[in-house]
Amino acid sequence: MRPALVALLVLVGCAGPWNPLDDGLEAKTLRMERWVRVDDDGTTAVFAPRAVRAEVAGSWLALARSARREVASWFGEPLSGRLEVHLVDRFPDGFEADGFSNAARLFVRCNPDAAPKSADRDLVAHEIVHVFLAQGWKIKRPYWFEEGLATYIEGERLGYGVAGKSLLGDVVGLDMVDTAQLRFENLHTWPPRLSYRLAAVAVETALTRWGKARLVSLGGQTGSFEDAWALTFGETPTLLEERWRDAVRIEQRRRTRR
Ligand SMILES: [Zn+2]
Repeated sequence: MRPALVALLVLVGCAGPWNPLDDGLEAKTLRMERWVRVDDDGTTAVFAPRAVRAEVAGSWLALARSARREVASWFGEPLSGRLEVHLVDRFPDGFEADGFSNAARLFVRCNPDAAPKSADRDLVAHEIVHVFLAQGWKIKRPYWFEEGLATYIEGERLGYGVAGKSLLGDVVGLDMVDTAQLRFENLHTWPPRLSYRLAAVAVETALTRWGKARLVSLGGQTGSFEDAWALTFGETPTLLEERWRDAVRIEQRRRTRR
């Protein structure tokens, strides 16, 4: 990779004061616009920073409804309650990711005047995973698990993951990752697109070892994430962290051989 690009990636990783799990991000984003409700079917509503054409609003609503069904089928449980989708064209300064969510609202970076593109479908599915976790899971999830699971499920729809394409196969910046320094606790300081894929590899490592049903059963636990993890899998997340670093090293070696 060219040195200029490395410098840019490092800069982006450190520049943003906001990450998608920050408190206060929602209130700040809502305050930035005068939101218009552009479509609503009673359980899913679409908001934009201005009026948009009815067919554009309708296609966003249809997309959100189908993403709700997809994510519910991954977890084997319906996504209940009302959901508001906010089509965003500017986030607070320093927010570098493409969206964020809570239990009732999701915010996606897009052009609200235009019909959704395939990347928007992937992004909405990713964000709805966060909604699902926020609604149904009592334990507080660390960044690596929250973003890792959302990115894993988003990628699985596109053929990545356990039985498909490598989650790191086309990731920019992987060769500059020093795996000795790689920790779950500092993953949020990496550039979002790189850190999300790295986090998804951690989730993939857990899914390969324990399967989906056990991973999903984690959501029924209470207390700290570490205790819930130990109760569910009989070991601490630290052991997964070691296997995860190995998985990243294997992909780096595969690249240098190409
Ligand atoms: Zn996310």
